[in-house]
Amino acid sequence: MDSNQIADERATFHAELRSAVRKLCERFPDEYWRELDKSGGYPTDFLQAMTAAGYLGALIPTEYGGSGLGITEASIILEEVNRSGGNAGTGHAQMYIMGTLLRHGSQEQKERYLPAIASGALRLQAFGVTEPDAGSDTTRIRTQAVRKGDDYVVNSQKIWTSRVEHSDLMLLLVRTSTPDKSEKQSAGLSILLVDLREAVGNGVTIKPIETMMNHHTAEVFFEDLVVPAQNLIGEEGKGFRYLLDGLNAERILIAAECVGDAHWLIERSVAYANKRVVFGRPIGSNQGVQFPIAQAYAHLRAADLMRFEAARLFDANQPCGGEANMAKMLAADASWEAANVAIQTHGGFGFAREYDIERKFRETRLYQVAPISTNLILSYIGQHMLKMPRSY
Ligand SMILES: Cc1cc2nc3c(=O)[nH]c(=O)nc-3n(C[C@H](O)[C@H](O)[C@H](O)COP(=O)(O)OP(=O)(O)OC[C@H]3O[C@@H](n4cnc5c(N)ncnc54)[C@H](O)[C@@H]3O)c2cc1C
Repeated sequence: MDSNQIADERATFHAELRSAVRKLCERFPDEYWRELDKSGGYPTDFLQAMTAAGYLGALIPTEYGGSGLGITEASIILEEVNRSGGNAGTGHAQMYIMGTLLRHGSQEQKERYLPAIASGALRLQAFGVTEPDAGSDTTRIRTQAVRKGDDYVVNSQKIWTSRVEHSDLMLLLVRTSTPDKSEKQSAGLSILLVDLREAVGNGVTIKPIETMMNHHTAEVFFEDLVVPAQNLIGEEGKGFRYLLDGLNAERILIAAECVGDAHWLIERSVAYANKRVVFGRPIGSNQGVQFPIAQAYAHLRAADLMRFEAARLFDANQPCGGEANMAKMLAADASWEAANVAIQTHGGFGFAREYDIERKFRETRLYQVAPISTNLILSYIGQHMLKMPRSY
């Protein structure tokens, strides 16, 4: 097969994948997500359907029971969920958190957990990194894991640990030693796999945080939590590097979700602008209404190119830190712009729950802050790509 044929086959596969995910999402229409948003409910049945279709196991190699796809395909799956009006953030982490285990876990850990994650028998979709005092400065975390015989004993607190109430397992970034003066602050961090089924009530307490969108995030308190030393991922002290290794996948997938949101918001805006008649003509015939939508669309398309470039590099095992960060930032900006434009286009109805615009407006706002804030991406670009001075 020559390279043109390979490209054609790939494009056909992507189109089929998109249409299959779209079909699944049709079973979970606007009302489904609106009701969950209102009740603070979790989309268990939607995520079961996604798992059964093999979508949430997309990145797990086939030898462990997954679909063995690349980040490009995984990102298409999540994009389509948001493009249908849904919220892939409720389950996206089941796709990528296992990457830390896949890349750095022992053979025994991989065999034990990956097939069960692929089948959905085990949910690994919580990663406790952020702490109240450390904030964006991850190297300053205080959660200590002290080795005692065959176990670690963990104390302290995490905040904003999403989906922890809906996970069987979580990855936990802990400090296992204090760096000496010659070492970087990131030395001495490690990653533990915590079995929440045993830990909750036995050293782990979860306190949900109410947020402006339906996000299922929580504070997690650790009081003498015992974690078997065999649950250490990789080597002690290398946790920060393992964490960084997983971030590009997260950034690319979230960029794709933002692209999906922006498409949905623009499609709704166009439909409404064409239909709504005021002063005897569709509001979309006024340039004051049309141009902001056109501008948001152009920004969306540009962000999407960066998302696919980052995904291409990732799948080719090439460095993609800059592209993944830029894709996340540009797509987050595009979706937020599209949300703002959609509210404006819908006038008063933009604020009515039954139109779902205000729900997406709240959902898209998150990505300016989490999982990494725009300022920190800009400083990554300034410092690492443009070689300007460190600002922190
Ligand atoms: C809904 C939600 C879900 C989340 N889920 C998870 C999760 O599952 N797991 C997890 O570990 N974390 C999670 N987070 C945490 C998230 O990653 C952090 O909120 C985010 O990284 C910002 O950290 P912070 O909130 O501590 O803000 P801070 O670090 O306190 O920053 C506050 C503001 O100051 C700015 N700022 C800080 N330092 C600088 C600087 N040097 N230069 C310029 N600007 C700066 C930031 O950009 C930000 O706007 C979640 C957060 C939210 C809101």
